[in-house]
Amino acid sequence: MIETSSTAAPLIDGFGRTIRYLRVSVTDRCDLRCRYCMAEQMTFLPREKIATLEELAIIAERFVARGVRKVRLSGGEPLVRRDVLQLVQRLGRHVGGALDELTMTTNGTRLRDHAAALRDAGLRRLNVSLDSRDPDRFRHITRHGDVAQVLDGIAAARDAGLAIKINMVALKGVNEDEIAAMLGWCVAEGHDLTLIETMPLGAVDEDRTDRFLPLTVVKERLDTQFALERDAAQTGGPARYWRVDGSATRLGLISPLTQNFCDGCNRVRLTTEGRLYTCLGHDDHRDLRAALREGGVTALDAAIEDALTTKPRRHNFRIGRDEGPAVARHMSVTGG
Ligand code: SAM
Ligand code: SF4
Repeated sequence: MIETSSTAAPLIDGFGRTIRYLRVSVTDRCDLRCRYCMAEQMTFLPREKIATLEELAIIAERFVARGVRKVRLSGGEPLVRRDVLQLVQRLGRHVGGALDELTMTTNGTRLRDHAAALRDAGLRRLNVSLDSRDPDRFRHITRHGDVAQVLDGIAAARDAGLAIKINMVALKGVNEDEIAAMLGWCVAEGHDLTLIETMPLGAVDEDRTDRFLPLTVVKERLDTQFALERDAAQTGGPARYWRVDGSATRLGLISPLTQNFCDGCNRVRLTTEGRLYTCLGHDDHRDLRAALREGGVTALDAAIEDALTTKPRRHNFRIGRDEGPAVARHMSVTGG
């Protein structure tokens, strides 16, 4: 294991933001094809381009050594990568020490098989994406998913003692009439809920403008049905939070289009190729795997340092008929 308790200086970008959070896309592949995320006929990376789990672990541990306190594994669907548990176990050893938290975002299809092992490896919380609890609608959104399988996975994760946050992308005319019911279900089940505005990342088969639902509108609707109290907790992340009165449930809103969140950004993203993107909405990146292969950990450290100097001030997401995707990369490449 790479030394992570070094006293190396923390990573600070050109705008004075300290980097505390690393997201790792462990695979760009997925067993679903959510319409807002992927085209039906997606081309995935050839296997030889994919960094090994060992390389991803070494890179992630360098970030931990430089003050990153939280790592989220995502994708693509992280649980479709063979042996991903090895990476979870390795990074999990830092939890409670150099790492405050290791967590994962998953579509839940394979949770029944993996929930207990994830908990044993050090995970305490999971984000599970669930855009609808209606079987037909879920199948439509994901193009072929089985919601019963996901709900069963969520139950398995809860039984294993993992706290669950549901991620729901708010889609105009698709699931907007189900958002209040989803929040009610989360309250009943003891889950948190995060609502997300659809972001213009990568080409998909539909025009995202047709599906864009501002969360300002959603929040006004929810206020008529729930007593929502602002929770001032700052995670350094993009979400703003509310407590659902009388419950343990926290509602998060991620609204990059209607409310920019970049000033307090504390995160960077590592792709399955080993590239570091310092902003979800820009194409600038550094090839950390190449640096590691060519010059070992010293070159890796220098490449990380260099990447940080170019972290942009903010993304420039816009959604409209004349706007294409902000970047060609899909969310699955950078790890949502
Ligand atoms: N497959 C896993 C899942 O679905 O949870 C992890 C990867 S997925 C890319 C991570 C999150 O990004 C999911 O909650 C998904 O709904 C969200 N997402 C994907 N594409 C998006 C987009 N274009 N705009 C907003 N959210 C998106
Ligand atoms: Fe797969 Fe997650 Fe994208 Fe859906 S949102 S296609 S589950 S990566």
